[in-house]
Amino acid sequence: GPPAVAEYMREALTNPGQGYYTRRGGVGESGDFITSPEISQVFGELIGIWYISEWMAMGKPSTFQLVELGPGKGTLMEDILRVFKQLASVLSKCDVSVHLVEVSPKLSEIQAVMLTGRKVQPNPEDESAYMKGISKTGIPIFWYRDIQDVPPGYSFYLAHEFFDALPIHKFQQTEKGWREVLVDIDPEVPDQLRFVLSPSRTPATQNFIQPEETRDHVEVCPEAGVIVQRLASRIEKDGGAALVADYGHDGTKTDTFRGFRNHKLHHVLSAPGTADLTADVDFSYLRKMAQGKTATLGPIKQREFLKNMGIDLRLQVLLQNSGDTATREQLLHSYDMLMNPKKMGDCFNFFALLPHHRLVHPDKKDKPKSPLPPVAGFNELLLK
Ligand code: SAH
Repeated sequence: GPPAVAEYMREALTNPGQGYYTRRGGVGESGDFITSPEISQVFGELIGIWYISEWMAMGKPSTFQLVELGPGKGTLMEDILRVFKQLASVLSKCDVSVHLVEVSPKLSEIQAVMLTGRKVQPNPEDESAYMKGISKTGIPIFWYRDIQDVPPGYSFYLAHEFFDALPIHKFQQTEKGWREVLVDIDPEVPDQLRFVLSPSRTPATQNFIQPEETRDHVEVCPEAGVIVQRLASRIEKDGGAALVADYGHDGTKTDTFRGFRNHKLHHVLSAPGTADLTADVDFSYLRKMAQGKTATLGPIKQREFLKNMGIDLRLQVLLQNSGDTATREQLLHSYDMLMNPKKMGDCFNFFALLPHHRLVHPDKKDKPKSPLPPVAGFNELLLK
């Protein structure tokens, strides 16, 4: 019978032969959609600073893994690693490794070229990774298909425009109760797909709709829920933090399922596998799925997060250092793209998972010697 939207989305995006990310994965100006790290180097630099600031606030542990989910072309990681290199004196005694979770063979190849200059070893014998290499700045990098393959240990996690690519279930409230939206063949038009409603409740309707739900149309991404549960368990057990950045809402929006091809809206059901399919991230659901194992911060708007991280100061420095008008115009243009509320400033959000002790002293009776430093981005960055 007709598959659920989630099944359709999974096949269209990550089918090993015909999936969009597997074959095409068109991030960037020449692709189908553009993301913040592809717009400006400043974005990745400030995120690099965020990790260093959290690493310092957590007492400078002697080792950490930086784990990125869905690294796209690898641009964001490249910018972060450049910051780590520039601040090598701060990180000198810390053993850093990079772990990329990527399902697309095509994109992992692009990441390998970007980050290592193609010096990679496929299927290393003694590792759970499917590929490994050394970054141009000398940091070991490993590739995995699933977060569960990443070895345990103190880790900082990053998910930028990752959760919006995971399959969603769609539900519609009707006179007869909740029904699931399915994808069917249109009997009237050959080769065309259409949405239909399940004739009765499906297992997903029973399991994924919150009893207190008041909207009449809901999208739920259980895969995002499972990944957040894993991140929260790992952070609770081994320490670290996760930073999630994506467009989304806090449990208020309804129909956000969209397709993009060549930077234009594309009907989600036409020519599956040739367009990027995405749905807004429901941060209220992610918060719920952390199940109190970690504290959560956000969502906070991208323009507020970047302002707190010092984007204005960084822009001034870059403008002062650039001699030609074209570069200065480019810097101002990309700043506007990231920060303007009508562009990416308001619809993109930052959200973090942090160990409880990062926000509240474990024993409140013990008078803390010094107050806990505020979490950068969600508060103004204070780097000594
Ligand atoms: N973070 C990048 C790319 C975003 S596109 C940027 O902001 O530019 C989404 C990324 O997630 C791609 O790299 C895609 O191949 C990857 N991806 C999609 N589904 C995935 C899954 N189930 N597991 C791992 N990676 C996935």
